[in-house]
Amino acid sequence: MKLHGIGASHGIGIGTVVRVRTGELDYSAVPYAGASREKERLRQAMETFAARTQAMADRVRAQVGEKEGEILSGQITMLEDPYLVEQMEQAVDEGKCAEAALDMVCQSFMELFAGAEDELMRQRAADVGDIRARMLAILLGVEGTDLSDLPPGTVLAAHDLTPSMTVGLDREHVAGILTETGGSTSHSAILARALEVPAVLSVPDALELAQDGMTAVVDGGEGVAVLSPEPDQLADYQARRDQWLAQREQLQAYRDQPTRTADGRQVALYANIGGVADAKAALEAGAEGIGLFRTEFLFMDRAALPGEEEQYEAYRQVAQLMAGREVIIRTLDVGGDKDIAYLGMEREENPFLGHRAIRYCLDNPETFKVQLRALLRAGAEGGNVKIMLPLVTGVEEVRRARALLEQCKQELAGQGLAYDQDISLGVMIETPAAALTADLLAREVDFFSIGTNDLTQYTMAVDRGNARVAGLYTVFHPAVLRAIRQVIAAGKAAGIPVGMCGEAAADPALIPLLLAFGLDEFSVSPASVLTARRHIAQWEQEQADRLAQQVMELPTAAQVEERLKGQSR
Ligand code: PEP
Ligand code: MG
Repeated sequence: MKLHGIGASHGIGIGTVVRVRTGELDYSAVPYAGASREKERLRQAMETFAARTQAMADRVRAQVGEKEGEILSGQITMLEDPYLVEQMEQAVDEGKCAEAALDMVCQSFMELFAGAEDELMRQRAADVGDIRARMLAILLGVEGTDLSDLPPGTVLAAHDLTPSMTVGLDREHVAGILTETGGSTSHSAILARALEVPAVLSVPDALELAQDGMTAVVDGGEGVAVLSPEPDQLADYQARRDQWLAQREQLQAYRDQPTRTADGRQVALYANIGGVADAKAALEAGAEGIGLFRTEFLFMDRAALPGEEEQYEAYRQVAQLMAGREVIIRTLDVGGDKDIAYLGMEREENPFLGHRAIRYCLDNPETFKVQLRALLRAGAEGGNVKIMLPLVTGVEEVRRARALLEQCKQELAGQGLAYDQDISLGVMIETPAAALTADLLAREVDFFSIGTNDLTQYTMAVDRGNARVAGLYTVFHPAVLRAIRQVIAAGKAAGIPVGMCGEAAADPALIPLLLAFGLDEFSVSPASVLTARRHIAQWEQEQADRLAQQVMELPTAAQVEERLKGQSR
């Protein structure tokens, strides 16, 4: 039986289902022992909770990471919040036993958080639910499934994977995780990724369909789980799992290596991220910097614009995590297929050719300036923050953005706030107009980054989401390759670095070509960092140059693709 969910942590896990049971938390038969006794029970349970959680947090900090440990320590702070304690004590004064008081208050907080627009707030509902269950288990003296002692090869099936459950896991024995709730940015997803356990979340009715003892496959890359697979299906997944494990093992050799070609030319290998959590993954994956921070994710899934402080905090945290390594942050890239409802953008006939990205920002300077100020301030924190403008078509846009940036600097100086006076300003090259005027743009900016996802779409005049013309959407087309070559050459001639943050940067078939053109920086998703490093290491400059010479003579995308894929190692 094949089930579909959200692939939250890559890899293929095969094992036997263990359904996660929480202990029976029924307190209906617990008598009320008087206000002072019930308050004392609450206090003692809170102490036990804090001690256990702290020990767990310390272990997690050491084994998994600082941030994961903080998620748990944060639960102690939440439980000890004076307002929450006051509410519980008030309920006890009104005649409720400790369990009932705790349950009532936690439920009301969970409802409050679950209804919030903000994703982080909604995640707090999961934390409060976790606190509630563990506190009730302590008060009632009942045990749930012991997740630190599981049989080897366990596929865990749970309604929700709470932070405390995930971090107590013995990673060696857990082959995969399957849940009924949770999105790709939920705490469970972040933790599953940090543990490198394949996970598929939000599978409807997973707990009813998956029975204890069943064989299950979890394909975290595809977001698919297979229960009781047929023998040939199982054999197929086993082969894929072996391949995945072997590749992962081999790739580890590249983790702390510099990125260089077989004959020693060093290039930069960065990661693309959408938020602070991804920056951690990028570092763990061995990225040397951030080549694209898609800030639009900070603006999505909420009711109103994020303010300067919130943005500053996100940018600062990424810069701090990257500890001086380059962090290229792209300004708001809204429009096209990225709609942000509260901005009230008008419907357009051709949204990809419409009022999007830098165009929207320049027409809404007040919104744009909030982001520029946050970026300038984050740049003052010792990190190496750089600003990148999306969808640029010409020099005027750069000049207008720079003028706003200068205004922001003056305002910040007037307020006595620290900022990076010399912050670098670069542009994405993702329109034919920018590619064709790269020589002119190069005089006005500090760096380029080629966005092949859009550059292919606009060069080929093909909507990247339209299946009927998908065959024309190919980066292997001679037109797209010529555009890339020309942009890199223009950057080189002007002495500015040129990177690539479109998906093509991670394509093994294109890597020799990009090396031949002289690309300085490859920016890929965290999961592709080590693979890209391995492919780069397999090419000598001369071989790559020779291949490029031949390929650039080929007249069709099909021939180019065939030739490059035939060479891919
Ligand atoms: C691109 O267009 O190549 C790019 C990196 O930007 P996005 O995919 O966010 O449009
Ligand atoms: Mg783009």
